[in-house]
Amino acid sequence: MKHFSAVLAAAVLSAASLAVAGLAQDVSGPQTHGIVVANMDRSVKPGDDFFRYANGDWIKRAEIPPDRPSLNVFARLTDLSNKRTADLIEELAKSNSPVGSGPRKVTDLYNSYMNDAAIEAKGLAPIRPHLDAIAAIRDHHQLAHALGETLRADVDALNNTNFRTANLFGLWVAPGFNDPDHYTAYLMQGGLELPNREYYLTESEHMRNLRAQYQTHVAAMLRLAGFSDTEARARRIFELEHAIAQTHRTLAENEDIHKANNTWTAADFTSKAPGLDWPEYFRSAGLSKIESFIVWQPEAFTGESALVASTPLDTWKDWLAFHLIEQYADVLPKPVAEERFAFFGKELSGAPQQRPRWQRGVVLVNRLLGDAVGQIYAQRYFSPEAKAQADAMVSNLIAAFRKRIEALPWMDPSTKAEAQSKLSTLYVGIGYPETWRDYSSFEVKVDDVFGNVLRGGLWDYQYEIARLGKPVNRKEWCMTPQTVNAVNLPLQNALNFPAAILQPPFYDPLAPAAVNYGAIGTVIGHEISHTFDSEGAAFDSTGRVRNWWKAEDLAHFQAATAQLAAQYDAYKPFPDLSLNGKQTLGENIADVAGISAAYDGYRASLSGKTAPIQDDFSGDQQFFIAFGQNWGSKAREAALRQQVLTDPHSPGEYRAATVRNIDAWYAAFPVQPGDKLYLAPADRVRIW
Ligand SMILES: [Zn+2]
Repeated sequence: MKHFSAVLAAAVLSAASLAVAGLAQDVSGPQTHGIVVANMDRSVKPGDDFFRYANGDWIKRAEIPPDRPSLNVFARLTDLSNKRTADLIEELAKSNSPVGSGPRKVTDLYNSYMNDAAIEAKGLAPIRPHLDAIAAIRDHHQLAHALGETLRADVDALNNTNFRTANLFGLWVAPGFNDPDHYTAYLMQGGLELPNREYYLTESEHMRNLRAQYQTHVAAMLRLAGFSDTEARARRIFELEHAIAQTHRTLAENEDIHKANNTWTAADFTSKAPGLDWPEYFRSAGLSKIESFIVWQPEAFTGESALVASTPLDTWKDWLAFHLIEQYADVLPKPVAEERFAFFGKELSGAPQQRPRWQRGVVLVNRLLGDAVGQIYAQRYFSPEAKAQADAMVSNLIAAFRKRIEALPWMDPSTKAEAQSKLSTLYVGIGYPETWRDYSSFEVKVDDVFGNVLRGGLWDYQYEIARLGKPVNRKEWCMTPQTVNAVNLPLQNALNFPAAILQPPFYDPLAPAAVNYGAIGTVIGHEISHTFDSEGAAFDSTGRVRNWWKAEDLAHFQAATAQLAAQYDAYKPFPDLSLNGKQTLGENIADVAGISAAYDGYRASLSGKTAPIQDDFSGDQQFFIAFGQNWGSKAREAALRQQVLTDPHSPGEYRAATVRNIDAWYAAFPVQPGDKLYLAPADRVRIW
């Protein structure tokens, strides 16, 4: 729950096109330094709908381009980052670097993806041997081998909050819950192609329609790959996934650290989760030497393993084949790639068109060679001055947070001491990491995009499992510099602020302090606050899971957070779909606490002086409007529904509304009883 903004799966990646990047400014005129007044709708009362007050005119003007599910500030900056990355790749290509060097791998990977004529010419030949191997499976021992071969390090429970893998299970290598000094193997539930269990189990007309379309899509993919009897196979695959979904935890349950802290020895799997041939599974996955694992959702392991034994072998073979085709669809001939997009892009996220190929090529390079290109990106686009300025701002925010902890009337000094100690040991990474991944053993071939994607996933997996049991490097990053986001890594007690978010409109050296604190300051405050959200609070200053709270303090914290969960439960984006206050709790706590600390930091930066008025707005007003403008966004219905169901972050509209918990917001506008967002002082949630 620790990153700042929604990260959508590659199939539904959202980023505004370059033509749209200028949208906020084509009406507002030249680049402004401060809040964008032209984006506001001043006919809306700030106390009634702060999101539309800050962004209403932009919302009226903006049109979501056909290749996007949604449009927001992050997407706009991601576009800029992608364009810069594509330009770097083009430059690297001209430099004619030696085969095998980092820059050459970047250009070879990108070019292998861009050569769609070569993809068409090869047809299904690249995937054929893998489909043949699945067809040759004769028994459950061989099935366990094939399932073990699919395991990848493709989930991340606490940093990038990704619980989704379409493989049977997923691996996350991270510091141990109970041994934060060493890398530990966390295993997670998996096996679903749709985004999560709700898509299989929710009884609504919208979901029933999607399920019917999904089954048609499964049959179409199998037909394109040359299978016979595709309707019946698709039905059986769907039924198997439906049964898997019934064993899965919900996202809100997945976010409960204490329920996830289950240590199983390798031998435990056979007794606690009979069905799958576990010794063969682990051998095939390269994990036979690992003695113990943390099993995030034990009941899903028991349930899915039982399904391996009880479901006919042929159904599992069809399931494996279908999942393989989905995984590589984007690097297979057009009919396959387009069929995948028709379902996962159009139906599930609402975008009628694919993004341009070059943008998808950049996404692929970022995924498989993120550090190789990130190292050059950081040199080019992140100055030492920007780094120093961001450093200073983070220090101010941490100091503000310290003062807030010290002043908490309800917290015992012993609890405060450990909270302060968590701040003292926090590692803050700004712009880019101190060390870079070395990809020299990842083989990239300019004429083999299928093989590149296959070898890239495997290289990453082997990189991760090679670290198991080794000492933790707390300074390691989990985002690339070219990512427009920020992250708190609770097991490392660390923050990463990538270069790509430390730029306008989030951070602008020429903007007033009020605006920088309201924009990037609330982002920084949000990430610091994750250290103390409903999950972060479970870890002590060393990153170990340990209850460091006095009982009464914990009771107070839990009561306040329950109040915030109830506030978000009441938001209803659609008549048949509400926000889930528990699922979004950690993010919502970080928003409330982050804006509080950023506001304090802003006031401290004035050193007692009055802030300059700009565009008729006081400093406090600019601070809150800048925060509201972080969340300017528009989404297609399918994309918004997907976010509500699968994302720990609330949609932008409701994140902007969290100002209703901050006293200074009431004074700034002013907001009165009777306004729609008004909360009586006793009902405002105050946590940190
Ligand atoms: Zn967050």
